[in-house]
Amino acid sequence: MSYDVIVVGAGSMGMSAGYHLARQGIRTLLIDAFDPPHHEGSHHGEPRLIRHAYHGGKAYVSLALRAHTLWNELEEATDTSLLIQSGVLNMSSANVYSYEERLKDARQLGVPLELLDADEIAKRWPGIRLTDDFTGLYEPEAGYLFSEKCVAAYRQMALAEGAILLPYTNVSSIEAKGEGVSVHTQHGVFHADKAILSAGAWFKTLEPFIKLPIQSVRKVVGWFQSDESLFDTKNFPGFTLGSLAGGFYGFPSIDGGGVKIGRHDQGAPWQPGEPIQPFGAYPDDEGDLRSALETYMPLAAGKLIRGSVCKYEMTSDEDFIIDYHPAYRNILLAGGFSGHGFKFSSVVGEILSDLTVKQATQQDISLFSLSRFQV
Ligand SMILES: Cc1cc2nc3c(=O)[nH]c(=O)nc-3n(C[C@H](O)[C@H](O)[C@H](O)COP(=O)(O)OP(=O)(O)OC[C@H]3O[C@@H](n4cnc5c(N)ncnc54)[C@H](O)[C@@H]3O)c2cc1C
Repeated sequence: MSYDVIVVGAGSMGMSAGYHLARQGIRTLLIDAFDPPHHEGSHHGEPRLIRHAYHGGKAYVSLALRAHTLWNELEEATDTSLLIQSGVLNMSSANVYSYEERLKDARQLGVPLELLDADEIAKRWPGIRLTDDFTGLYEPEAGYLFSEKCVAAYRQMALAEGAILLPYTNVSSIEAKGEGVSVHTQHGVFHADKAILSAGAWFKTLEPFIKLPIQSVRKVVGWFQSDESLFDTKNFPGFTLGSLAGGFYGFPSIDGGGVKIGRHDQGAPWQPGEPIQPFGAYPDDEGDLRSALETYMPLAAGKLIRGSVCKYEMTSDEDFIIDYHPAYRNILLAGGFSGHGFKFSSVVGEILSDLTVKQATQQDISLFSLSRFQV
């Protein structure tokens, strides 16, 4: 059987694209090396922050707002709670980052925001200890997403709309032939008019058909026992923290599971095929996270409850790649989501579907062109 579109990599972006395509009657085949949602890519260890007041320009703010609407629609369609509007507090030392640009862009697009000093932050969230050089940008309408549930919800909807999913099917090579594309797997060769390649941290497995400037990186997150009266979901928001010691992000203690914290910068490079070290293999896995908590949220720096290892797929400028294959207009690439892509996966799926079906999108994706790199 031949399909209209084959999606290679049915994770965060691919599964969403599969749904947006299938709902329009496009015959869609989703192929994944695992059984999404799974623990081998970039979407596990939920939750994920969804912020609207984005750095990097107004295009990101518009995308975040559209993404939020689409998450709400998915919640309604599947009768599942996926997005918790907890508010997100961004904190940064003036020595690291200023919120001026972000504030301007977001306000122009109607995002409600508050700029707070360290004293005001301490009054509202007594668990936080900041020095006077810190400023906070609070987004009351932002929050977090249960990423694995989101992928599962898109899977449910994509299959209900007629998409076919082949789990545990590894794509070993791709060929573009005339007007079509052939995708080779251990379960046979599949054909379609078009393809979307959304292989996350595993893009290297699609070389030499496509070679993208993406570095996959091992990342860790930890959940720490916290004073529930200060850090539970009733009292504490999602957060980002820009300090001279590094960039961190985190979440309130959900159902007593402890404050979750991760570090955005740094991490060990990783390549498909290499073993990935479990949490705790390096002293910094716990040490970095604990040290940030001890400094800025000491009553959330209790016993480590659990840790998890996940993968980022970094571009050099941390902007995404959403573009056509340089040699084939019927093949779309979606990768390099650089540790901040999950929140956008709902709208990225819509964009990929629009580009596939109409060769156009209403969103501004000029930041994400592949031509900004020398490939
Ligand atoms: C620790 C951590 C914290 C994060 N925090 C946030 C956050 O707070 N907010 C936010 O917005 N984002 C966050 N992110 C980033 C976000 O999760 C990723 O940007 C996003 O999940 C990437 O989606 P993807 O579709 O590219 O990758 P994935 O969801 O991993 O999907 C790729 C899929 O491709 C499949 N695949 C790959 N190669 C092949 C092949 N050859 N054959 C078949 N299948 C293949 C894989 O099995 C996988 O299912 C975080 C990421 C991590 C790791």
